Amino acid sequence: MNAADSVLQRSFPTVMVPRREPVGPMTSAGERLLVGENGVFLEISLPWISLVRRVASFTASIPIPYGRVEEHTNLVCGRVPEELIGEFVAMARAAYPNETGSWIVWSTRTRQFRLLPVVILSQSSGSLKYDRPERHDDEVLIIDCHSHGRHPAYFSSTDNEDDKHDIKFSLVVGNCAAHVPSFAFRLCAKGIFEEVERVPAAWYRISKLAGAV
Ligand SMILES: [Zn+2]
Repeated sequence: MNAADSVLQRSFPTVMVPRREPVGPMTSAGERLLVGENGVFLEISLPWISLVRRVASFTASIPIPYGRVEEHTNLVCGRVPEELIGEFVAMARAAYPNETGSWIVWSTRTRQFRLLPVVILSQSSGSLKYDRPERHDDEVLIIDCHSHGRHPAYFSSTDNEDDKHDIKFSLVVGNCAAHVPSFAFRLCAKGIFEEVERVPAAWYRISKLAGAV
């Protein structure tokens, strides 16, 4: 095969899932497609998360001689401390009525989280333009946070556009002047969006304490 396609296929291989043994683990960080008897699945393996999601089903009931694949998520980095959510809510309140943004990053070396404000290019009560913040080589983005000022928390079409290439969680804090703000939270994995219906109760608790407007 030509060199260009060889490189592409090595960077994003397709694996036939065996029936009589588990599929071998990925040997390095990246992505691959798994073809099983129950569809085609995207597998992503990063230092902080690994997951498998179905991205296609067979439209005909042809017998596929491969094994079954189950969707799963393994959050290697563990739970994000709610104190950092509280810190971001305080930032969102301080910026009110303008929008603001921040990243929660995790160090693969120290396994610690920290909040890192984004580099704001322009901000208003209805928009935010920013550059990615500088981080250490061992730090990876876990939660991309932004606020919606006086508006409720939800994912706008701009947010969908911004989030479609990344693998991260995305958090919106809305109603920033309220005693308890609103939250929208989702997992983003290369265009797959999975919104979490209920954020942890601790996030609401800590928000009440986080800097009134
Ligand atoms: Zn938004």
